[in-house]
Amino acid sequence: MDKSRNLSARVDSTTAAAILSAGGICAFATETVYGLGADARNADAVLAIYEAKGRPRFNPLIVHCANSAMAETLVVFDDNARTLAERFWPGPLTLVLPIRPGNGIADIVTAGLDTLAVRVPAHAMARALIAAALCPIAAPSANPSGTLSPTRAQDVVDGFAGRVPVLDGGACISGVESTIIACRDGAVIQLRAGAIANQEIEAALGRKVPRAEKGSPVAAPGMLARHYAPRTQLCLDVDNPEPGEAYLGFGPLPGCNGPTRNLSPSGDLAEAARNLFAMLHELDALGAGSIAVAPIPETGLGEAINDRLRRAAER
Ligand code: AMP
Ligand code: MG
Repeated sequence: MDKSRNLSARVDSTTAAAILSAGGICAFATETVYGLGADARNADAVLAIYEAKGRPRFNPLIVHCANSAMAETLVVFDDNARTLAERFWPGPLTLVLPIRPGNGIADIVTAGLDTLAVRVPAHAMARALIAAALCPIAAPSANPSGTLSPTRAQDVVDGFAGRVPVLDGGACISGVESTIIACRDGAVIQLRAGAIANQEIEAALGRKVPRAEKGSPVAAPGMLARHYAPRTQLCLDVDNPEPGEAYLGFGPLPGCNGPTRNLSPSGDLAEAARNLFAMLHELDALGAGSIAVAPIPETGLGEAINDRLRRAAER
């Protein structure tokens, strides 16, 4: 019975586009995590995203565009933003830029800010969906607010108990959310660590890109300390798990007698990012008393992985 309900949540790409065009909400795969999309110009449709997720209204959404030309109609690019868009789009980079007046985006998308977050995803099905729906798509991650992000269609089906239609595009290849960069008046700030390492952003611009300070007004408003959280308590930086404790490893595993997953046996951070949420989902479902997590280096993609783990461990 569960199975038929789960199957009924999946829709094909034609149906997904029709749902979005008609003002409905639909989940779809991107290269980062699954998004829960709606027409960004339709306030009622966007409101339905906030309600389905239980997302606080002060947390604005990223608008997904089919290409840079669509993004240019919504926001004003400066030279830094243009350089980054040319280098990383389509891909897991979100740019927070001044709103282009009269862009038609519903106010609820930006939670009253004078900037808008835009991204052109790389996933072929996501781009085709946006093009077919003929509108910019507001899409946060397709999970109830605060829970683990979904990187497989089944995570979305389970997270919303089959009540949200899903366009299945397979497992997400980046596995962590986009890197968010704000560009304004020549200044560039990293608002969220993500699937593109800060060094790559700095290399593209030929300059240092500072991280937004905690609590600063420019920081991404939705960056809550506790987020991406499994039901099971996480313990970070553990080299040797307690007997019976679940263990999420990285690199060679120590002796473990509880359930284990390994983010990357070879210590590859891209592989670890890709596996992060799926393995946390799996260990969380086992109902262990706690999940111990191996130390992850803070370099490159490790910054985004550790950011998600720290928020997941917050109680
Ligand atoms: P999510 O959709 O859950 O990946 O979260 C999107 C993130 O983008 C949130 O942390 C928001 O705070 C951030 N964001 C979206 N729009 C803006 C904006 N205009 N200014 C700053 N941060 C933004
Ligand atoms: Mg999210």
